Amino acid sequence: MTFTDIMPFAGSPLDFCETKRSPEELQHYMALPAARAILFHKGKPAVGQDGKAIRVHPSELIGQNLLDPHIIFMGLDGNRPIFAANLAKDDAITLESDFQSIREIGGRLDSETLALFGRAKSIFDWHKDHMCCAKCGAQCSPADGGHKRVCPRPECQAEHFPRVNPVVIMLVVKDDKVLLGRGPGWPEGFMSTLAGFVSPGETIEEATAREVLEEAGIRTKNHRYIASQPWPFPSQLMIGVICEAENTDIQVNPDELEDAQWFSRDEVAAVFAKTGNAFRRPPRIAIAHQLLKHWLQEGL
Ligand SMILES: [Zn+2]
Repeated sequence: MTFTDIMPFAGSPLDFCETKRSPEELQHYMALPAARAILFHKGKPAVGQDGKAIRVHPSELIGQNLLDPHIIFMGLDGNRPIFAANLAKDDAITLESDFQSIREIGGRLDSETLALFGRAKSIFDWHKDHMCCAKCGAQCSPADGGHKRVCPRPECQAEHFPRVNPVVIMLVVKDDKVLLGRGPGWPEGFMSTLAGFVSPGETIEEATAREVLEEAGIRTKNHRYIASQPWPFPSQLMIGVICEAENTDIQVNPDELEDAQWFSRDEVAAVFAKTGNAFRRPPRIAIAHQLLKHWLQEGL
């Protein structure tokens, strides 16, 4: 089993059809009897009592008030085209259940549903925050099945594509201890691996070393990539790294962290076995949870 098999939000079974979504092909997909659209409202998907996405045929959306980008082509699930619609109202279509926060219900969803919801949310969020052309300020239009935006001004015609922001997230290890921290305002007792955005001009290793030093005053070496995760809040690529600490005297930067501590392997194992309460662990859908499990099983 690889990390991709178990990493929440990864492992989508869809063919994204990056080269097969011309206007004619999209029209064809939309009309197929097998086509289905999942439903979003304000960044939340409609979820049935069974924990699956509620799906309707795209023709049921005719006459509904859809917000820009209206409908996204998510890809092919075998021969079944899958779309995602952005509903203006939450009572537009009779539903068995409510629109629910992916962050709140993610731990109860199967991996395929989680991957589908996460990708749709990232694309919808990108559209919402990039309505206007970054070059000239004109209102852009969605194109390519919702996978780009195009500026309508003849003298501009800029094309804009969904962006993914790289973030390093690291297991900092010293002997049998791991460094965990908590941000300001986090729920009481909650601790996680340190993380931060990669800056322009940095490698993954350099970003890891800088973030750990900035946030906790710990110098690190032997940085090694372990696994990555698409994280749709709103659109990060989490890059999981393991590294060794060169010093242990933590100096918390209060602008970045509320607290940081070393925890022993036994303490972390007890938290994951729910027999200890040294801290509250990261949720299952977060890569931090998977990285800590990996460290418990594999070590450095
Ligand atoms: Zn423009």
